[in-house]
Amino acid sequence: MPDLKTVVAEIAEEMRKRPDRGQVASYIPELAGIDPDQFGIAVIDANGEVAAGGDADVPFSIQSVSKVFTLTLALGKIGDRLWRHVGREPSGSAFNSIVQLEYEQGIPRNPFINAGAIAVTDQILAGHEPREALGEILRFMHFIADDTSITIDEKVAASERRTGFRNVALANYMKSFGVLQNPVDYTLGVYFHHCSIAMSCRQLAMAGRFLAWRGKNPTTGHSVVNPERARRINAIMLTCGHYDGSGEFAYRVGLPGKSGVGGGILAIAPGMASIAVWAPGLDAVGNSHLGRIALEALTKRMGWSIFGE
Ligand code: GLU
Repeated sequence: MPDLKTVVAEIAEEMRKRPDRGQVASYIPELAGIDPDQFGIAVIDANGEVAAGGDADVPFSIQSVSKVFTLTLALGKIGDRLWRHVGREPSGSAFNSIVQLEYEQGIPRNPFINAGAIAVTDQILAGHEPREALGEILRFMHFIADDTSITIDEKVAASERRTGFRNVALANYMKSFGVLQNPVDYTLGVYFHHCSIAMSCRQLAMAGRFLAWRGKNPTTGHSVVNPERARRINAIMLTCGHYDGSGEFAYRVGLPGKSGVGGGILAIAPGMASIAVWAPGLDAVGNSHLGRIALEALTKRMGWSIFGE
């Protein structure tokens, strides 16, 4: 097998040289102002060794990548009852689309489109103050990443709230069907804040370890979820993790993954590696342009696609 550190260094160098970048998200100033020339990658193998390249230690807004962790947390709290509030099918529509909600009585198609993630957040919040729910999410991030320095970027959260009209519409629409239990403001406050968690590639790859190793962090031995749940979360990442580009991501990369409009992607090579890449420029469906290209190169060179070589 090729040497992982060499492959990661090669990919970081190749990405730095490419002229194509994609477009950074422009809906809030904190993302619109990000330097598109940054690229980071961190890969953790089964022995806990980290191969990192480029801007692997620069924190970025994880945005929708947080939805993997809120899904995990909500499943831990209420188990399979969560699936009464959200489905598990790819949407085939944009991440912030409202159209399908009408046909499906306000039940979002999956936990990774905005409506679905808002419904999941609502379940985490149930019976708590927003501040408590947010604290719980952050503590969970600290636990799985084994890193208490991870924080929320309050400026990003404030901008999300100020500009999140579509999310307000989605939440109110779901509320009208009785899908949300809490005051819409509370649920959205928690949602906007968890989207605004800032992490580096290294921290994100650390946080993803339990998904690569059957629910357990192989270094600390701490169990996060059981193997069946880890497998199922990976399945949803594979089918729904890249908005309306999930099919293309499976075709090209062949790993479960979740992207965010901050340009980050968490990808899982089961039994092999937890991988995080970050490049702020996005493609037409909102996935990191160079992030996807880097992951395609990595899985190809390492032979890690779950569909074979
Ligand atoms: N906070 C963003 C929103 O709700 C997340 C977008 C994303 O990363 O998909 O619009």
